[in-house]
Amino acid sequence: MPLTLITVPCLSDNYAFIIGNPDTKEAAVIDVPEAAPINAALAAGGWRLTTVLLTHHHWDHIDGLDGLSGRDGLTIIGAANDAHRLPPLDVQVNEGDTITVCGQRADILDVSGHTVGHIAFHFAQEKLAFTADSLMAFGCGRLFEGTPAQMWDSMQKLRALPADTIICSGHEYTRSNAQFAATLETDNPDVISRIKAVNAARAANQPTVPTSLDLEIRTNPFLRADVPSMMAAVGLSDANPADVFAEIRGRKDKF
Ligand code: ZN
Ligand code: FE
Repeated sequence: MPLTLITVPCLSDNYAFIIGNPDTKEAAVIDVPEAAPINAALAAGGWRLTTVLLTHHHWDHIDGLDGLSGRDGLTIIGAANDAHRLPPLDVQVNEGDTITVCGQRADILDVSGHTVGHIAFHFAQEKLAFTADSLMAFGCGRLFEGTPAQMWDSMQKLRALPADTIICSGHEYTRSNAQFAATLETDNPDVISRIKAVNAARAANQPTVPTSLDLEIRTNPFLRADVPSMMAAVGLSDANPADVFAEIRGRKDKF
């Protein structure tokens, strides 16, 4: 039986995700911006939380940890490379490692760029990827620590996953991302229709997360730094894709 996926809005614009095994009622949570809404969602579904997966050390992804129901019995999993600034970890993981969560296998990807040590969790069988502040809906995380080349490398790793992968990212930034995308490939019909869909969803107060990798590949500027129409849109048709990525990211920072 496939895992149940629950999107939990937290704080002003964060998302946590609960995955649960409907047979055993065992559940895991990916990132913990705050405890209360996560505890409420667990209780509402009768889920028994066993595991916490942390993508990176920023406070808005970890600060709710100590308030989670059953905190003492939880297994906390995060990046070895980030262990020095994450809450104490029970399991430290590196790129290429596999873990079992709620009876399903997850592969660890290093998706540094927003921070160095940021990881993503890919559940291949479930077609789920938890990308937090690396690949985001219609955007990507700001480069606080890594270089543009590092983030472009991370984008390519995620882009290489199966196109029907569901992308679970960490924030509701999609409307501003859509406004930015509208300044680039102005005649990309997929971008135009997505902007309309995003605006309609937000006007109705609906989340725009999760999304599908297929949609991101067709519309997300940060996955398209080597696509000729995007390269032309930023006036860098003959440039190295990492430099195109850097130009797009730099424009978004000033947008
Ligand atoms: Zn962050
Ligand atoms: Fe964040």
